[in-house]
Amino acid sequence: MDIKTLIQSTSVEKRVSDAVNKAHAVQDKLNAMVSFIEPSEQLKTLESKSKDCPFYGVPIVLKDLVNMKDTRTTGSSGILDNYISPYDATITKKLKDAGAIIIGKSSCDTFGMGGTNMTAWTGPVANPYDLSRMSGGSSGGSAVLVATGVVPMAIGTDTGDSIRKPASFNHIVGFKPTYGRISRYGVIPYASSLDHVGVFTGNVKDAALSLEVLAGRDDHDMTSSYLPVEKYSDLCIGDLKGKRIGIIQNVIDSIHNPETLNQFKELCQKLESRGAVISSIRLNEDLMHAFLPTYYIIANAEATANHSNLDSLRFGVLKEGQTMDESMILSRTAGFGKLLKKRFVIGSYALFTENQEEVFRKAQKVRRLIVEDVKRVLDNVDVIMAPASGQGAPKFDDASADQLSKEYLIAENYMALANFSGYPSITVPMGMVDGLPVGVNLTAYAHHDAKLLDIAYGIEKTTGIFNVIKEVTQ
Ligand code: GLN
Repeated sequence: MDIKTLIQSTSVEKRVSDAVNKAHAVQDKLNAMVSFIEPSEQLKTLESKSKDCPFYGVPIVLKDLVNMKDTRTTGSSGILDNYISPYDATITKKLKDAGAIIIGKSSCDTFGMGGTNMTAWTGPVANPYDLSRMSGGSSGGSAVLVATGVVPMAIGTDTGDSIRKPASFNHIVGFKPTYGRISRYGVIPYASSLDHVGVFTGNVKDAALSLEVLAGRDDHDMTSSYLPVEKYSDLCIGDLKGKRIGIIQNVIDSIHNPETLNQFKELCQKLESRGAVISSIRLNEDLMHAFLPTYYIIANAEATANHSNLDSLRFGVLKEGQTMDESMILSRTAGFGKLLKKRFVIGSYALFTENQEEVFRKAQKVRRLIVEDVKRVLDNVDVIMAPASGQGAPKFDDASADQLSKEYLIAENYMALANFSGYPSITVPMGMVDGLPVGVNLTAYAHHDAKLLDIAYGIEKTTGIFNVIKEVTQ
């Protein structure tokens, strides 16, 4: 059900208690929630609000990186296990103003650093389509809570593809707007030059509506944009006539699964029959091979700097030693998982004075070349498009991916192009491949959020896949 219909067809009490009950019911199987938030105070505040609020009494979930006053915000880490937010993030405030009822904080890879949701301090999050498979990450908890119909909207963050990949694995919409469109004040950072706030929803118009609520200049976040917020949901018409869609041929060439390729081809044919102008574009393949290493260097260097404040001396779980230094070392050793430590080593290496020019600055230069290449192809088309993943979600114990293969480096990691560039990017469901959901991803030029959502809406109308709810039965 879309958000508008939900508001019209149910009472606030019913929709909130349904969401809370269902969140508890699926917790056992999915492990999606880190903390439940008792909604009674928010419901009391709602009484003084106009029923016209866009999210009036709509239950939603925040990724556990988002601060909400007087609630636990752990970043799915051990070191912040006892952290209670003293303030609201700007988006939390905006959501409350819009009438939303926040029922919990969802699990993620620790501080958003991962693509599996298997690094969360509270354990892995399962995929509702097959409980032996991963939800995808890092915003996996939010993704599965929308996929199972617990909430119609959940907040995610996206630094490399952390909204758009789990959306693909869970048959839902995952959208990150242009960099700076949504304030990040009060959201625990991962890598500040790549981090975006975005949403999961059951359909494209709800993503557009969410952007209307969340977007706008915020003086607490100097990277936030002054551009006016548009009526994105009204601008979703879905007429594909004359819309220029460039297929990223490098990604297609890197995908092995014939069923994914077939379905994608069929989708393109259908879009063409609706008047879309489909062409094939090619990005510089050498640069595409460099996406992942470039991403790892920049993201981990920024993360190492951002997370240097996590010393447990002022907040966080303290493991006391004999000296201040020892306390910091003990706390950080106990509070961070293996993957995080590995990433901090990579980040520190890139930032050593003697390596900065050769590693960090070089990665920044490569990033610039990547952005120029993406911009080049977007000069001639409205959006670029490709499957959001080569196949459905991997099994938990599947370590078989050859991380140096073309399939892994290109097909599974190309979506970071929208983080390097800050361009808006959305994943919408495409179909089921071998019994598992696979989505299609679209990226447009900076601040063409409205156009991107409109085309995505046209694709949603073409596939007829929206508001799918997967009940957890296994
Ligand atoms: N999978 C990527 C990583 O491991 C992306 C994470 C993200 O977007 N937050 O860092």
